[in-house]
Amino acid sequence: MRFLLPLTATALVCLASPAMAKPAANPFFTPWKTPFAVPPFAQIKTEHFMPALEEGIKQQKKEIEAIVKNSAKPTFKNTVAALDDSGLLLVKVYNVFDLLKGAETNDALQVIEAKVGPLMAANQDDINLNEGLFQRVKVVFETRTTLKLNPEESTLLEKTYRRFVRGGANLTATQKDRLRAINGELSSLKIKFSDNLLKETNAYKLVVDSKADLAGLPEGQIFAAADAAKQAGLAGKWVFTLKSPSIWPFLQSAENRELRRQILTAYSTRCDKGGDTDNKAIFAKLASLRVEKSQLLGYKNWGEFVLAENMAKTPENAYKLMEQLWVPSLKVAKQEAAELQAMIDAEKGGFKLEPWDWRFYSEKVKKAKYDLDEEAMKPYFPLEGVRTGAFTLASKLFGITFTERKDLPIYNPEVQAFEVKEKDGKHIGILYMDFHPRPGKRGGAWMSTLKEQWIQNGKFITPVIYNVSNYSRPAGDAPALLTPDEAETLFHEFGHAMHFMLSNCRFRGSGNVAQDFVELPSQIMENWVFEPEMLKLYAKHYKTGEVIPEALVQKLKKAGNFNIGFAWTEKLAASLLDMDWHTLSDAKVLDATSFEKSRMEKWGLMAEILPRYRTPYFSHSADEYSAGYYSYTWSEVLDSDAFQAFKDKGNLFDPQTAKAFRKLLSKVGSEDPAAIYREFRGRDPKVEALIDKRGLK
Ligand SMILES: [Zn+2]
Repeated sequence: MRFLLPLTATALVCLASPAMAKPAANPFFTPWKTPFAVPPFAQIKTEHFMPALEEGIKQQKKEIEAIVKNSAKPTFKNTVAALDDSGLLLVKVYNVFDLLKGAETNDALQVIEAKVGPLMAANQDDINLNEGLFQRVKVVFETRTTLKLNPEESTLLEKTYRRFVRGGANLTATQKDRLRAINGELSSLKIKFSDNLLKETNAYKLVVDSKADLAGLPEGQIFAAADAAKQAGLAGKWVFTLKSPSIWPFLQSAENRELRRQILTAYSTRCDKGGDTDNKAIFAKLASLRVEKSQLLGYKNWGEFVLAENMAKTPENAYKLMEQLWVPSLKVAKQEAAELQAMIDAEKGGFKLEPWDWRFYSEKVKKAKYDLDEEAMKPYFPLEGVRTGAFTLASKLFGITFTERKDLPIYNPEVQAFEVKEKDGKHIGILYMDFHPRPGKRGGAWMSTLKEQWIQNGKFITPVIYNVSNYSRPAGDAPALLTPDEAETLFHEFGHAMHFMLSNCRFRGSGNVAQDFVELPSQIMENWVFEPEMLKLYAKHYKTGEVIPEALVQKLKKAGNFNIGFAWTEKLAASLLDMDWHTLSDAKVLDATSFEKSRMEKWGLMAEILPRYRTPYFSHSADEYSAGYYSYTWSEVLDSDAFQAFKDKGNLFDPQTAKAFRKLLSKVGSEDPAAIYREFRGRDPKVEALIDKRGLK
């Protein structure tokens, strides 16, 4: 359930160097004549990116120079708003690049990516460390109380000022040089980390050549594995990979314990085996550079630096919440482990529960205890049906509609484009959806923007947004059938899309949202997925169209918190690991293996559960979500509490509450999150709804 912050003008900027291509040939240099000015993907070639990015930087540099050289006294409009308005070409190019490098990459794009990353970081520094620009922003900031700014303007001014200070504007010349060097190195290391991970994830194949070793696996999975084998030139065999739609169902169903051990071991030792693609030293170096950077900027550690901008404010507050949930989660997980062990013993298994047994036996216990079989559920969750369910939910809550537009350019034949409209037909924006794994797509699921909503010279710019994910493909004659987890992820990413789709802000900078608030719009959507009222609307058998039977709904509801101890323990273990790495206050480069081991021992993580991510493949923690993995938990406090507002009304689609929530969505990021939340709920968030919902007492 990954989510990447959209890149706004404030979050980026870029390079300098080689010769320019002929501008006329480059589609980035002309206005797009496509419907809704979406990118003309067919015309955009790899070689267009570098010249367009370079030109974009050049243009923004000029725009910034004009701001700095303005002889008029600094005002909000001629400085802060002008800065927010700058860099339009660069954003236009980078957004397309960013989409393709995640969803449709190849060797040529990866070569460019390795250059673009550090250059973007360098150019970001050129802005953040521009003394003349900072002085103007500072003048506006220092007179802010006299300026009669509206809340969105005040927020943008404060964010802008803090960005400069956090970017090093108050440092000495020597310190600034050091900061630039650190930023450049961080950027290169992050790219190397993610390339290594992609490489190792793609490289592994579990090849099965005997049918007996497939025992326990459902037919759909066997089909998919046979298909994967064919594509790998291994026709007649079966191939399983470390991609989510392959490994997790395998671990759930495969009776062959040795093969389960092999695939989970391959997964959990990715980038941890030495050699060129080992990530341990890279991660440790990232952590150490972050200590140095945060201390240069006056903070004790990276966690303090990051959380100062978040709703949590300090690592202590984040730890407090995590610890509050960690103790009961671990307690429940231990009870679960005992149940699984009892099942193993009853079967005379003669072994002790290990991480590669957990999913397999918990599936069995679930069947025995709740008579609930995930495979029996899947026919009610065809991908099309679940997607329609998400659309239906948005229609019921916000009164909006979705129409597929086959006339829009797409970047891969599998991608679908939808136009989103108000009830009265008014255009809101475009949503691209790209659902299945491909070799050029990185793992996970995410949302980002090709064009963000804002108001340009009085003109309302409508957003273009995408959801990219890696759900199971159709197998055999059946359409793509989702697991309940996948259905939840689809709603989650769709929630992010709704946030940016329904945004109503003047500034692009308002799209930068505190990390621990930004998961509220997505996670709240997960609350509806398995509610009986909602299931009736979308969970229909792909063959018969029959609505999911009431008995199955009841079972699902009863089993709702099954295995919750495991899920929370692995999630919180990763969150704690991330925060532990980022609250170090000594820049010494540590040995990642022993650090992780000692922290997990300190927290008392049980041996049967691995942290959801281990250090060598913890890409959230290596990158945008460093010191931020707790955000999912923090946001879950918010989403559970917000969803409770609907429940309290006795109507999960209560129009008044939905209207208030749409208002919240329209201005996320444009004001202080705590204030926006208070306006919606009439009070601060409370943790009780979450503890209740998850049964973690
Ligand atoms: Zn998310």
